[in-house]
Amino acid sequence: MQSELPDDLKRCVEFHGHLCPGVVIGYCAAKLGMRELSARRAGDEELIAIVENDTCAVDAIQVLTGCTFGKGNLFFRDHGKMVFTFATRANGRSLRLCLRPARPPGMDEMPEDQRRGRQIEYLLSRDPSEFFDVRRDALTCLPSPARIRDSIPCESCGEMVMSTRLRERGQENVCIPCDKNDQKERVPV
Ligand SMILES: [Zn+2]
Ligand SMILES: [Zn+2]
Repeated sequence: MQSELPDDLKRCVEFHGHLCPGVVIGYCAAKLGMRELSARRAGDEELIAIVENDTCAVDAIQVLTGCTFGKGNLFFRDHGKMVFTFATRANGRSLRLCLRPARPPGMDEMPEDQRRGRQIEYLLSRDPSEFFDVRRDALTCLPSPARIRDSIPCESCGEMVMSTRLRERGQENVCIPCDKNDQKERVPV
């Protein structure tokens, strides 16, 4: 089956490590989102993605959209929902996709070891718009672009810390691990 996959899905599988329904769901969401917003893969931060889960799907989102954790244009909201919102900064357009039950008919009666393959086939055999509730311009304001912040030393452990992540502890500005640790220990974890 792997050899029949579209090239862009193969790239997602290579990055993710295996082929699974989750990565295919992310693939479908990214394809639909980019198509509807007429967006290209982001080299910088022109396209953003807000994901409301941390499942296999998000790896396909990162590969296809170029919205990545490191670049700061992938935003994780820990809601446990298969919801993906895409937006383009140039025109402020956005698209919210919420996955509907996407199980092929009769899947539950199939032997367990065939279900995943069947679901993947099913997801790839239809237009992705069939699997999502779509809401246009769902975002009234976009998350602010990533900014480069100065780093300054933690006054407890001495390690450099992004200035916006320092915490005040008494007279000192300390890093988050130092703030949490027993004052005697003073070893960041
Ligand atoms: Zn997976
Ligand atoms: Zn520290």
